[in-house]
Amino acid sequence: MKTISSFLLGVTCASLVSGAAFAQSNNTNKFLASKQFGEATKYLAEDFDNIVKETINLTEIPAPPFKETERGKYFQTLLQSTGLEEVETDTVGNVMGLYKGKKHDKVLVVAAHLDTVFPAGTDVKVKIDGNKYKAPGIGDDTVSLAVMVSLIKALKASGIQTQYDILFVGNVGEEGPGNLRGTKYLFNEGKYKGKIKSFISFEPGAAGDITDAGIGSKRYKVDFNGPGGHSFGDFGIVSPAYAMADAITKFTEYPKELKNQTTYNVGIVEGGTSVNSIPFKVSMTVDMRSASADDLKQLDDYFVSILPKAVENENSKRSTRKGEISYKANIIGERPVGKTAHDTEIFKITEGVYKKYGYPLSTSASSTDSNVPMSLGIPALTLGSGIESFNAHSPEEYLVIEKEKNLKAIAANLAIVVLNAN
Ligand SMILES: [Zn+2]
Repeated sequence: MKTISSFLLGVTCASLVSGAAFAQSNNTNKFLASKQFGEATKYLAEDFDNIVKETINLTEIPAPPFKETERGKYFQTLLQSTGLEEVETDTVGNVMGLYKGKKHDKVLVVAAHLDTVFPAGTDVKVKIDGNKYKAPGIGDDTVSLAVMVSLIKALKASGIQTQYDILFVGNVGEEGPGNLRGTKYLFNEGKYKGKIKSFISFEPGAAGDITDAGIGSKRYKVDFNGPGGHSFGDFGIVSPAYAMADAITKFTEYPKELKNQTTYNVGIVEGGTSVNSIPFKVSMTVDMRSASADDLKQLDDYFVSILPKAVENENSKRSTRKGEISYKANIIGERPVGKTAHDTEIFKITEGVYKKYGYPLSTSASSTDSNVPMSLGIPALTLGSGIESFNAHSPEEYLVIEKEKNLKAIAANLAIVVLNAN
């Protein structure tokens, strides 16, 4: 995940606390003081070495985008070992199981993603140096899967009974090319569609890190095709390279104000075959992002409108005696925009628990699995799973294991999960 912006939150003024918020805070206090929560935290401490062990086991099973199957199979055995019910892998590869509550009409989903950004063949052997555990993908998001397994076992061991079912999911497709296909399937097609009341996604990070807004994006690969020819012999005919250059220039001249964290990028330009050939094909990939669905649409509309103009321009400027320039724009990624309001139950519970634990809160906008429910109006947050990692998406990625600090954060997250299922 990539953080775009963050804000430190102030302390709520006591005089503004409403009756509902008071009841909320009362529930939180009651649960944190309960015998069962005490037992759950004790279990987490005893199980901590397993979190580290399973983080290593999972990390060493490669899970490149679209190749999460092997890791998914292992994760399924871990879910089965916790005693969850209805453990299964769905059509797209999401691995999940139910922690049964008293009511079954609605479900809280708690997820961490199976996929990493690293291609097949990457060395994923974990190297340990003191309390640093280094391997590509170990933090984002593998450690959260292991934390989730321990959290489920702690719930089971302490016999905590929730009001609603909790669906624990190791989902596919969070990273770039995956295009959130795991969560999209879960919310739009899967068997829990329409039943999900709220959603928590864990990513590596400290307790208190809250992603409450989803940056949307739209991505294209655009191919420009032409007749091609000899650079000398066919000089004067149309070239797809010039059409693409024109399109890129027009794109950078977007006439509207770029507000609400709206950005654009031409990431890959490629094509042609040799220095003395007029290319017959060139292409580019383009990324547009925004925290506003409207602003993203306006930028997208503008981009789509300049492509035929750039092509027309080239066809009128140079000779089309050997053929014309054409283009094809393929959408290669689309992530919806969303936000979870601070007066929602999920935010109030999360804020309340973190504050009780004394964690400074910071909220940020990012592109995560929570984008999908947020865009559908389903309350969702992405939270730090309690173990911090560094150099995400780089071969130098590492985790820092600090048992006491990690356990405190994981316990806080367990309370957030339970309170959101009540
Ligand atoms: Zn991630």
